Amino acid sequence: MSCIVRRSYRSLAKIAVERRSETMKCPVCGAGQLVWDTRDVRYGYLGKETMFPHVTAAFCTKCDEYLVGGEEADRVQKAMRAFKNSVRKISPAVPK
Ligand SMILES: [Zn+2]
Repeated sequence: MSCIVRRSYRSLAKIAVERRSETMKCPVCGAGQLVWDTRDVRYGYLGKETMFPHVTAAFCTKCDEYLVGGEEADRVQKAMRAFKNSVRKISPAVPK
């Protein structure tokens, strides 16, 4: 799964949150539609993978992108940072 939280999409995500009932085209692939759902999402970093449970976001029906906004974006980004830090501690040398 590709990722994910793109800061530049946050305002877009905010709009999407406010207009939950409207369908939105995926800004990444342009083919899929964004569908609101709460899912467990996988996140990979340097070959390690983790799972973020119950992420509420707009998921694309075609590609692996999803859009989070507001507090949920902060929560997901915090979890990503924490995971990256924990991975770096285990393998401080970044593989080429
Ligand atoms: Zn897409």
